[in-house]
Amino acid sequence: MQSVVQFDECGGPEVLRVVEAERPDPGPGEIVVRNRFAGVNFIDTYFRSGVYPGALPGRLGQEAAGEVAAVGAGVGGLAVGDAVAYLGSQNTYAQYTAVAAARAVRLDPQRIPLDVGAAMLLQGLTAHALVTRAHAVQRGEWVLVQAGAGGTGRLLVQLCARLGAHVIATASTPEKAAVARRAGAEHVLGYDGLAEAVRRIVPDGVHAVFDGVGAATFAAGLDALRREGSMVSFGNASGVVPPVRLLDLAPKNLRLLRPSLYGYLVTDADYQRHLPALVDLVQDGALDISVSAVYPLEDAGRAHADLQARRTTGKLLLRIP
Ligand code: NDP
Repeated sequence: MQSVVQFDECGGPEVLRVVEAERPDPGPGEIVVRNRFAGVNFIDTYFRSGVYPGALPGRLGQEAAGEVAAVGAGVGGLAVGDAVAYLGSQNTYAQYTAVAAARAVRLDPQRIPLDVGAAMLLQGLTAHALVTRAHAVQRGEWVLVQAGAGGTGRLLVQLCARLGAHVIATASTPEKAAVARRAGAEHVLGYDGLAEAVRRIVPDGVHAVFDGVGAATFAAGLDALRREGSMVSFGNASGVVPPVRLLDLAPKNLRLLRPSLYGYLVTDADYQRHLPALVDLVQDGALDISVSAVYPLEDAGRAHADLQARRTTGKLLLRIP
């Protein structure tokens, strides 16, 4: 048996509880991982609350790192005991997870410890895909990263700055502003009067907005864009963005995208291309993955509450007993 976080009905963080469940066996092409750390992401709160519908009873978690505990038929290149990180499950708040081997990447724990491995994949691959594929950030461009001290936002700030863009970030407190600045933001703004404040810095507006905050910031982001700018709306931390009038894009010939990481990671080949590339980014120092808080598995609800109450910066993890 094993310990797993489960919820029987959608609701607040209090619906999460640890239950005893069967340990999985690996199917063909799968490995079973003995998880040591699992990443906490905003998407987990959407499944828990029902913003994104899922089957009940529900399990949570998209990413984790640990050691391979069992290997299924047809798996090559991974063996019991290997350190791995993986993405694309829906059940990592657990001691053991069965996952397609193609969604795992082997780690050298001397270079990427398991906590960093568990912290880097979902937000790291999202940030990388957004700045290369949703809006290919160019040297000298101005970009606005909403919630620049958050898990994904802090990585977006780093990657944009590394690509040579001028980064303006938003953050709600001075402490968060300092986090965004350390990640590479040249300017950090509050959310009030945002578009005007952006235009005081760059009168034409920014080339791209990366917005995971959603309902509360979408309109200000559109306002802050320059002609032919890109609105990359990738999340709903403050609520789902209401339907958009296409005509609102016309005055500035704006581009509007609503990308999802899993729209970029579809096939096994996609995973096998992008996971090692992310490992290289982390090992080369292009992405600094800092883990800001680690909660015991049984405190998954507290991690969700802190994330949703905007009390956190950077990456949150669960430590799996
Ligand atoms: P974060 O660590 O960024 O936490 C969310 C942050 O959003 C908060 O810390 C807060 O920062 C800001 N925020 C602003 N308004 C609110 C509000 N009303 N309620 C809560 N937070 C608010 O979380 P993640 O990095 O995990 O996720 C960020 C966003 O990115 C989410 O919307 C998530 O769904 C999305 N995402 C989308 C992906 C995709 O594939 N499309 C993949 C990964 C993430 P502050 O206090 O500074 O404002």
